[in-house]
Amino acid sequence: MITSYISHSECSFHDMGPWHPESPHRISSINQQLERSGLAQELMHYSARLVTDEQIYRVHPKAHVRSLELSQPDEGSPLVQIDDDTLIGPKTMHAAALASGAVVRGVEQVLKNQADNVFCAVRPPGHHAERVESLGFCFLNNVAIGVEHARHNFGIKRVAIIDFDVHHGNGTVDIYKNDPDVLVCSSFQHPYFPWRYADSEWDNIINTPLDAGCDGLTFRRKVEQSWLPALQMHRPEMIFISAGFDAHKDDPMGEVNLTEDDFFWVTKMIMDVAKTYSNGRIVSVLEGGYSLTALAHSAHRHIEALKGL
Ligand SMILES: [Zn+2]
Repeated sequence: MITSYISHSECSFHDMGPWHPESPHRISSINQQLERSGLAQELMHYSARLVTDEQIYRVHPKAHVRSLELSQPDEGSPLVQIDDDTLIGPKTMHAAALASGAVVRGVEQVLKNQADNVFCAVRPPGHHAERVESLGFCFLNNVAIGVEHARHNFGIKRVAIIDFDVHHGNGTVDIYKNDPDVLVCSSFQHPYFPWRYADSEWDNIINTPLDAGCDGLTFRRKVEQSWLPALQMHRPEMIFISAGFDAHKDDPMGEVNLTEDDFFWVTKMIMDVAKTYSNGRIVSVLEGGYSLTALAHSAHRHIEALKGL
């Protein structure tokens, strides 16, 4: 398998402070683990390009994006709080534009057959970003911007987004809840942040709530039962993954007890579906994961699976 790894050093320009778990160290810890293990050498490495305004505005209205840009403080001024735990700094929207731009580049690589699949090691994350509201460390919905690029520029019709972050992907659901061509499957600790969209009234939104303390076997059984029939019915031409690793047992935020092997397993399961319906096309995008060690090892296993190892 040709697996592309897309990242950018300037994603670190978004920095919410030394105490904040969504830190630039998250990506460097993944990079270090991939180097240490030798897996880095087996991947194709690319730099993210900046997303264009046109690509963003397919998902987020211009006025919302402008208001985010205007809320950025000047260099040297204090960060500006946009919700209880999300702060915007002078370079935040630059980093966000690289994060979304990485997904756009990944879509192009997969749909031009330059890569079998892609992992975007980017931040800020995106799955909590709703159409007109930014929250939960997220500003632009990176995955949705990639999905719209695939639909508008390559004529892809049916898409599946699979989100195994410990938090519900409310932003993605908000954007696609009335769009039956996009199937969204999300597993998440419940009840828990973001406290919305946990109940689905839409056929294309498959919510898979997990109790605190849920172990790997229960997770595997639940996602097989809820996701597989929906994916088989939907027959997606392309699959996106909101790859959050904060459901790991060592993560300080989530209370779900997955291990690296569970992330390997779920990635393999998604690859089987992609092989059957989607010509193997997968673009996976980093979301959460706040234990630097668990994040690095989990992302490593996820990428090993993508690579077909
Ligand atoms: Zn999360």
